[in-house]
Amino acid sequence: MGLSTDLFIGGEWVKGPSVMPVMDPALGEVIAEVSIAGPAEIEAATAAAHAALPAWAATAPRQRAEILRRAYELMVAEADFFAELIVRENGKVLADAKGEVMYAAEFFRWFSEEAVRIEGDFRPAPAGDKRILVTHQPIGVSLLITPWNFPAAMATRKIGPALAAGCTVILKPAGETPLTALAVADLLSRAGAPPGVVNVILPQPVGASISSMLHDPRIRNLSFTGSTEVGRILLREASDNIVRASMELGGNAPFLVLSDADIDAAVAGAMIAKMRNGGAACTAANRFFVAREVHQEFTTKFAAAMGSLRVGPGLDPSSQVGSLVSIPERDKVAELVAAALDEGATAVSGGASVAGAGAYFAPTVLGNVASDSSILKNEIFGPVAPIVVVESDEEAIFRANNTEYGLISYVYSADLGRALRTAEALESGMIAINRGVVSDPAAPFGGYKQSGLGREGGFDGIHEFLETKYIAFTL
Ligand code: NAD
Repeated sequence: MGLSTDLFIGGEWVKGPSVMPVMDPALGEVIAEVSIAGPAEIEAATAAAHAALPAWAATAPRQRAEILRRAYELMVAEADFFAELIVRENGKVLADAKGEVMYAAEFFRWFSEEAVRIEGDFRPAPAGDKRILVTHQPIGVSLLITPWNFPAAMATRKIGPALAAGCTVILKPAGETPLTALAVADLLSRAGAPPGVVNVILPQPVGASISSMLHDPRIRNLSFTGSTEVGRILLREASDNIVRASMELGGNAPFLVLSDADIDAAVAGAMIAKMRNGGAACTAANRFFVAREVHQEFTTKFAAAMGSLRVGPGLDPSSQVGSLVSIPERDKVAELVAAALDEGATAVSGGASVAGAGAYFAPTVLGNVASDSSILKNEIFGPVAPIVVVESDEEAIFRANNTEYGLISYVYSADLGRALRTAEALESGMIAINRGVVSDPAAPFGGYKQSGLGREGGFDGIHEFLETKYIAFTL
């Protein structure tokens, strides 16, 4: 594959004490063996990031920006290589992988532009006794932990702002998708990131290794994307040393189709909101609340669109839905669907795993889903859309908010005022009105409630990697 499968520490490729396999989930085959990190490699990565910090923090913002800009240009130039790598280890289809690579590259471009715009302020104190000077400084060595569903974009969404702010990083990618992370580190090194500024490790066992890192005083910041369950553990671990933590956690996105919605537009939006990345997205529409007046038409058209999707290997350009990341992930989806069917739902399209070696699940629309069904309480993370009929906007809003998650909500209505009133009442960090996708590196991404703490992207993202310093002085 022309890519090292060792760890990336202090600008060097380093072998760990043993290796672990990386699978192609569409073929059920091992495609590589990557080094895992033991205590010595964890110490080496921490020491390298710590040693590189003073010089990187003192590097001119313009120079940091130019390295990030080169990283953007290299990633765009190498988009086909990255997309194929993502398909091989993740299973998603090539079109989704290409979309991810462009999205991932944009974080380097956006934060190259933000690196030179870190503001402060200077003002007289209200009492007139002093001046207030506020400035921002890099927080320090940052530990970045990412999931498998967007192996490139979740890494660049953290590395971009960290490097722009002047922090050095240790990236711990998901065990399912380490190859893309290693390729991103290699790219940053070629773009000019000095040794030690970006390090990648795959520690085993994960929990104990990350716990030891969060108790190491050299590590000052944790940026995590993954499940709410693991986020909760990490917040506890981070609390001993009061490590600053930002959390991008699970979602359980509601998709509201109000009674005046344009149904064809709602179906087109639902296909994107549900099926981008084969449904394996924290932003994936997970619960469809559809007004009784339009639910028949919406369900019929949505099921027809879902039923017509071609399921197959991600590298085959005719595939529209790829494999889930692993057989256990597919089986979790199958269990949720079986439970919903037991509880009285009907499969309007799909409803079962697809036979064969790959981790495929048929695109599924479930009708007649009871409002207390277990499938509405879990992140499905697969190509399954449960539909609940609602009698009013108020009921839709109540049911949408009836979850501990609050990442994103989707609203379809022909009346902008009605859509905005609904958006204001929904308890989520992001709302899509009459569209199926919101993600944009220039906008703040993050959740309310147990979907997270802090924001990535936009003008907020860089502040997750900056401390605020107030200097008081008398003239
Ligand atoms: P996960 O929580 O199982 O794993 C995420 C990362 O944490 C992986 O790198 C994993 O190895 C690591 N990890 C697992 N246990 C750990 C522990 N005890 N200590 C330290 N690290 C540990 O999540 P996943 O299955 O890889 O990804 C899917 C989840 O990620 C979904 O819940 C999804 O909603 C969420 N997600 C959220 C966002 C967001 O921006 N809010 C984006 C993508 C994915």
